[in-house]
Amino acid sequence: MPTLVLDREYFVNVFRDMLPFVDKESEHLQQLDSAIGDGDHGINLTIGFREVTKQLDTINEDAADISTIFKKVGMLLLGKVGGSSGPLYGSFFMKAGKDVTGKNEVTFDEFCGMLLNGIESIQLRGKAELGDKTMIDAFLPGAEVLKQDSPEDPVEKFTAFVEAMKEGAESTIPLIAKKGRAMRLGERAIGHKDPGAESAWMMMEVFLNRLKEAVSA
Ligand code: ADP
Ligand code: MG
Repeated sequence: MPTLVLDREYFVNVFRDMLPFVDKESEHLQQLDSAIGDGDHGINLTIGFREVTKQLDTINEDAADISTIFKKVGMLLLGKVGGSSGPLYGSFFMKAGKDVTGKNEVTFDEFCGMLLNGIESIQLRGKAELGDKTMIDAFLPGAEVLKQDSPEDPVEKFTAFVEAMKEGAESTIPLIAKKGRAMRLGERAIGHKDPGAESAWMMMEVFLNRLKEAVSA
């Protein structure tokens, strides 16, 4: 199988898919956040990606490279989303593009590196560790998969990445929160899944769905 190359259209399509995705999942995320937070996680993501959708064509026209598209999307999330997830996802996308300046296509391995940079920046910003009941509990197991050598089939690796994140989100259910709003609940947070860990794997699934399409094209 030849090396998979992802062009900027792939990423623009992913960003275009984000709003319909968050709209579909908004109520579910809302419910999770109502149980252990303030119930706005779904709304926060909708507000952020509504703005991304509004500006995406202009961003795409003006951006010289994939790096700039990611930076602009991240800046919008950072600027428009009030909750703690806005700055975290904002820095994820801003930093994901940092090593691909000047590029309008990236290899699959470069793409994995982009996501690893994004995950690292969420940890730097939020200072959460594994087991703190945050989106990091989804991202870190995912990062372990991304760091492994890529098999022949990129979809296989990316599916394993999303699966690891999904399991990571499940792993938050029995935990007490050590970061974020749910911290205040103490033991009452036990038995509830962390909303940010849930949205994190779901957002990565949006990348996966377009990846499957890119591979079969
Ligand atoms: P807020 O908590 O301000 O209402 P959201 O509801 O949009 O913001 O997002 C909540 C999610 O943010 C949590 O479920 C958790 O996954 C994530 N989160 C909060 N604080 C941190 C942190 N320090 N590091 C990583 N993730 C965090
Ligand atoms: Mg909230």
